[in-house]
Amino acid sequence: MTNSTHPASVVVVGAGQGGHQTAVSLREHGYRGSVTLISAEDALPYERPPLSKAYLTGEADQSQLWLRPATYYVRQSIDLVGGTVTEIDRAARTVRLADGSSYEYGHLVLATGARPRALDVQGAGLRGVHTLRTEQDAAELRAALATARRAVVVGAGFIGLEFASVARSVVPEPEGATARGSGGSTARGTGRPTARVPGRARCEVTVVEALDRPLARAVSAPTAGHFTRLHREEGTRFLFGRGVAALHGDGRGRVASVELADGRRLPADLVLVGVGVTPRTELAAAAGLAVNGGITVDSRLLTGDPRISAIGDCAAFPQVRSGNLLRLESVQNAVGHARLAAERITGSTTRAYDELPWFWSDQFSTRLQITGVTDGGGHDTEVVLGDVNSGAFSVLLFRGADLLAVESVNRPADHLAARQLLGRAIKVTPDYATAPGFTLRGHLAHPTPGRPRHTPGADRTVMPCRSSSADVTPSPDTSPPANDPS
Ligand SMILES: Cc1cc2nc3c(=O)[nH]c(=O)nc-3n(C[C@H](O)[C@H](O)[C@H](O)COP(=O)(O)OP(=O)(O)OC[C@H]3O[C@@H](n4cnc5c(N)ncnc54)[C@H](O)[C@@H]3O)c2cc1C
Repeated sequence: MTNSTHPASVVVVGAGQGGHQTAVSLREHGYRGSVTLISAEDALPYERPPLSKAYLTGEADQSQLWLRPATYYVRQSIDLVGGTVTEIDRAARTVRLADGSSYEYGHLVLATGARPRALDVQGAGLRGVHTLRTEQDAAELRAALATARRAVVVGAGFIGLEFASVARSVVPEPEGATARGSGGSTARGTGRPTARVPGRARCEVTVVEALDRPLARAVSAPTAGHFTRLHREEGTRFLFGRGVAALHGDGRGRVASVELADGRRLPADLVLVGVGVTPRTELAAAAGLAVNGGITVDSRLLTGDPRISAIGDCAAFPQVRSGNLLRLESVQNAVGHARLAAERITGSTTRAYDELPWFWSDQFSTRLQITGVTDGGGHDTEVVLGDVNSGAFSVLLFRGADLLAVESVNRPADHLAARQLLGRAIKVTPDYATAPGFTLRGHLAHPTPGRPRHTPGADRTVMPCRSSSADVTPSPDTSPPANDPS
């Protein structure tokens, strides 16, 4: 589909989850103009979640990360270009690459993602100090984990905890070794490690976190408490409320210990830094586009230039209900953004982006699923359905009478029901949720229960929150959301 209102060409910068989906959705919507997908990574577009899960354990190989086989791009006339875009010339409507080549665009989509924050301390560049964002990072980490004896994880966000779960579960083989079948079994085909490799030592893991609990900006206290217990039972050591002062080497350029702010030293042959990410906004900023904790876009994901969109991890977009700028780091967000941008470019929609966020994380054999967002304002009441000690429960987060988000631990049916309830704006109040017999699925089927009762049922707990700081932002790491100045 190309006509006078549709651009003759679309250039997408970044071929990650969002960039790839943009190209796919353009073709699915019948767009017939040229589509150029430019990737700074020397790989077919791939998905990142397995990098801290099945790929790290050795249960998935590189080709299983690919979002589509190479033939797909040929068949769909999607031009995959390897290289780094270094400049956007908005007047000439071109992007320039580091190798000097340039591409003209009718519409430009920025899907540049985010990069891991580095530790700003002495020794951060030593060998054995890792971050985890790309397939290359994961391959290096996997190889390092095969021989590591003492790992220190800096930052108890999703990346840090998923890594810790793998490091305490299996000793993976480096890429190229006979990984398949050696990494233990998986939970329900998800790639989650459930069994340990018999006879092989697990790595000691210490997680150092500046705040007083893991996932502090991402989940509620009951959920954070559960994951703390789970990891401790599996042998992970947590040091909360501690900062890192320096990393020390062994005299040959390899990391040997982590020095904490209190002077204590933790021996380490592997350090994973998981202290959040920074959105990659520099191209947009240099081109004069607004940046505010992410590339600023309107509700249709357009920047201030009507020929340039920004999507996914790099984009700060207004939440429709509050108007607050939000930046999310999740597959759902990147894919949802991409689909909307493609629909808009092909003229199929003028709608605002208003998708319900959801996110998941796998740690040991536990799956956490989150839906909704507290939008930086926090919540004031938590209702727990089920028994936290049983390892299967959901936490409903309310502000006043409004349900904002639901965290489900090993309760996939609750998660699906919560997505329906929140997506369809079906009213759930703390009173409903604490009425005897309340279930999310039941409420979905019969959304207007009789008179809500006020006595908490036996399998639920109501907790008024003292502070509203626990933000629910689907994010794979500890980075604060764009609208959270902390
Ligand atoms: C280890 C890991 C585990 C995760 N697990 C989960 C999970 O369980 N659930 C979940 O929902 N989300 C998870 N995520 C988050 C999810 O993968 C991201 O939110 C998603 O990939 C964002 O997609 P994106 O397209 O915005 O950015 P990306 O996928 O990061 O893609 C951006 C691409 O743009 C390229 N690029 C940047 N600048 C340029 C340039 N100037 N020129 C050319 N190319 C450029 C980058 O190299 C990169 O390839 C995880 C992320 C990681 C790293």
